[in-house]
Amino acid sequence: MHLKTLTVRGFKSFASATRFDFEPGITCVVGPNGSGKSNVVDALAWVMGEQGAKTLRGGKMEDVIFAGTSARPALGRAEVSLTIDNSDGRLPIEFSEVTITRTLFRQGGSEYAINGAPVRLLDIQELLSDTGLGREMHVIVGQGQLDTVLRATPTERRGFIEEAAGVLKHRRRKEKALRKLDSMQGNLLRLADLLAELS
Ligand code: ATP
Repeated sequence: MHLKTLTVRGFKSFASATRFDFEPGITCVVGPNGSGKSNVVDALAWVMGEQGAKTLRGGKMEDVIFAGTSARPALGRAEVSLTIDNSDGRLPIEFSEVTITRTLFRQGGSEYAINGAPVRLLDIQELLSDTGLGREMHVIVGQGQLDTVLRATPTERRGFIEEAAGVLKHRRRKEKALRKLDSMQGNLLRLADLLAELS
């Protein structure tokens, strides 16, 4: 499995559609200060479901949409597509190539798609979670983040390891199932009350 192409349009400094082709192995992005190198990494994190505006170095999520320059007006939406080579079947989906797309509209609302079909954010998180590309992006190590890991409490450190090992996915599912059970329990109680009143 490897990242094949990343296409950004209206995302941060990339107003026009821009496509990056990656080969297996190491890729280096070089360029002058402020030319948008980190924005490429932000686009990767964003398309894989990143929800924290701060992680993306902005104040609010809308800040990822091209804000305009003196030469070009602001855009109304940001769109990023990431194509992953899945010929080794590491992603649990029957496609040898998987394209994840995320779109955000300035008017509000966002869309996610897998190979062109609309999906929920959860579907993208689940698709990627067994690869270590989970909800928390520990595969993307930002500037200064090593300090955070070194200073983490034992509980936080355990969280990092669980996310990387894919355990958190099951913990989240368990929590969701327990919440459902809880609300069922409430329904059963109400039903028992009603039955008692009727009999
Ligand atoms: P450095 O080498 O200094 O770390 P860099 O190459 O990583 O820089 P980035 O931080 O990726 O650069 O890009 C910064 C540029 O992106 C700035 O010029 C900033 O104005 C621009 N930028 C960020 N968000 C937006 C946006 N929403 N609309 C337009 N431009 C944006």
